[in-house]
Amino acid sequence: MMIKLYEILKKYWGYDNFLPLQKEAIECVLNNRDSVVVLPTGGGKSLCFQSPAMCMEGMAVVVSPLISLMKDQVDTLNNCGVPAAFINSSLSVEEKRVVANAVFQGRIKLLYVAPERLILDSFMTFLKQVQISFFAIDEAHCISMWGHDFRPEYRKLSILKSAFPGTSIHAFTATATKQVQDDIVQGLKLDDPEVIIGSFDRSNLSYSVVPRDDRLKQVCSIIDEHKNESGIIYCIRRADVDELCEELLEKGYKALPYHAGLSDTERKSNQDAFIRDEADIIVATIAFGMGIDKSNIRYIIHAGMPKSLENYQQETGRAGRDGLKADCHLFFSGSDFAIWKFILSNSDADVTNAGLKKLSDMYNFCINSMCRHKAIVTYFGQEFDKESCEACDICLNEVEQLEDSLIVSQKILSCVARLKGRFGAVHVVRVLAGSKEKRILKFGHDKQSTWGLLSHESRKSIRSWIEQLIAQRYLQRTGEYNAISLTEKGWLVFKGEETPNLLKTVEKADKQSRKDAKAWDGVDINLFDILKSLRREKADEQGVPAFVVFSDASLRDMARKRPTTLKGFLKITGVGQKKCATYGKDFVKAISDYCDNNDIETNIQLKRKRRKVNTAKLKAFELFEQDISIPEVAESVDRALSTVSNYLEEYIKNEGIDDPSPWVDAETDEKILEAAEEVGMERLKPIFEFLNGKIDYSLIRISLACFRNRSNV
Ligand code: ADP
Repeated sequence: MMIKLYEILKKYWGYDNFLPLQKEAIECVLNNRDSVVVLPTGGGKSLCFQSPAMCMEGMAVVVSPLISLMKDQVDTLNNCGVPAAFINSSLSVEEKRVVANAVFQGRIKLLYVAPERLILDSFMTFLKQVQISFFAIDEAHCISMWGHDFRPEYRKLSILKSAFPGTSIHAFTATATKQVQDDIVQGLKLDDPEVIIGSFDRSNLSYSVVPRDDRLKQVCSIIDEHKNESGIIYCIRRADVDELCEELLEKGYKALPYHAGLSDTERKSNQDAFIRDEADIIVATIAFGMGIDKSNIRYIIHAGMPKSLENYQQETGRAGRDGLKADCHLFFSGSDFAIWKFILSNSDADVTNAGLKKLSDMYNFCINSMCRHKAIVTYFGQEFDKESCEACDICLNEVEQLEDSLIVSQKILSCVARLKGRFGAVHVVRVLAGSKEKRILKFGHDKQSTWGLLSHESRKSIRSWIEQLIAQRYLQRTGEYNAISLTEKGWLVFKGEETPNLLKTVEKADKQSRKDAKAWDGVDINLFDILKSLRREKADEQGVPAFVVFSDASLRDMARKRPTTLKGFLKITGVGQKKCATYGKDFVKAISDYCDNNDIETNIQLKRKRRKVNTAKLKAFELFEQDISIPEVAESVDRALSTVSNYLEEYIKNEGIDDPSPWVDAETDEKILEAAEEVGMERLKPIFEFLNGKIDYSLIRISLACFRNRSNV
């Protein structure tokens, strides 16, 4: 079965290997064993149910919560040559009939439906008339009230198990908490499920978390690093979305807003423009994202702090689903904390308390100096054992611990104390920086002993330290005007009984270090751009999003290997037979033309990565299972006799086979064992010599392996 799976993987999806844990997840499906698979976004969950569906008899039913996503998912599959369909309310009666007919005729391997439809009596009756290979429940956390997206209709899926007792159910989610996993098992009434949990580290994402000082400037500097690439900018409130969007438009950036205050039509049209790569930048509240399956989002900016690490992980998780590098930037401020606290205080006490705890954890994450990857993974209860992630502001040293943290803190706190809690952060900064602005002179604050105490530091740094002191509860904001005052804990700093932990941002000359050198290695950027336009053209012709045609990873691989034949084109990652047939000619032509015109080398043979899985061996194992002789197997897998006999020895050991007769005749076997009795079986050479070199080493190995299995030696 596995060999067939590899063939399918290459033929339809154009991949050579599986991502971590995909194989394990697929084995559960093939073995009809219920499972819960927890893999982070971009971990490749879809393939875990899509590829076995292609190897198995009958049709898989995929439960997916969002009608809006089904079409893209099914288009993507059809584009790879996989017969998939969906039934939902967006189809006309006639269209539904066409799908139902195709299902009855056994032409559909994967059928996508929403949970509310699946549990209808009429739909159940319909399904009972066809052969179901298994059920896949996507976004399975929707069943749990503890997840971030509870959907009551998921609860009703509990009837599936009793309605289809012999059919396995496989649940997929990216939500890490144990409680949600338990809810899934119980809610779906899974029968002794295998639980497969992947690492929550998204190693292709790089994180940077810095205090916010000039929002527009900070946001623009990131957008400028990502010209012509897709990105999402998250804000806390609708008003922030509108304001930032306008500021960006004024500066000439084409940014579209998205929040619950817009009309349905406007929201949908903005989202579609983003998905179809017509607009690169979307500025949004957290309302945006759930219906987004776009794989080539290259950056996420949080212009305000999210309310929890769960939210942060989810929102940043939308970047880099194609496995290529993506950047996540968070600009936070003490006022974000205050805003969320205010929003949360409107809920009932339990919710508020739980929310405040998460909010504090989020804040601590911002001001901490622990590797960001490690902090996130640890928060979700997993270990992170790498020394450095090489992909966050802390590990890349963009933020440093301030050496004289205590003294700087004392200077700031004494300035605040002297201002008697009556002035805001901006004023405090001015006093410490030694400003002679009108308001300072008016209040005579230039005469204070703390005036100009930090004049050698930038105002940006002073402001950031004030925010950090607020976050660490040494200072607080109070009253209508957000005046700053000391907390009780703050007074302890004067006595040196508490030392705040202040960070300083280091301006890095070499921003390139974050750039994803490896993924761009050898890629001809101009060709990449040409291929991108061609992809756009093809997508428009078909009326599908660009990533349905090819992922960015595929385009980069094309611009790197530059194949000028269809055979070479098939070697590109993500190019299966159908895509090669549909697009191969045009892409190969674009590549040839470009390389011809610019005298650029084509058909680059990259050193092959060591294949993790040896398909010849797997195929040989399948043949051994049918007792086929070594020479025949060698011919069929195109390997030397000696290699195949090594495979056989491994196979015998793995399977505990004790009868060598399919490969070694009884007489030879007896001679080998007699010889072994004489000269011992530790080494092969004495046996070989004892038999005067008449019996091949490979046969000796096989006889001994079976003998060992018989006698448990
Ligand atoms: P998830 O649903 O877990 O967020 P997806 O199923 O969307 O992840 O897959 C994420 C990306 O990884 C997609 O672009 C997909 O094509 C790619 N992918 C999945 N499996 C493989 C594989 N075995 N080899 C290479 N790329 C893969």
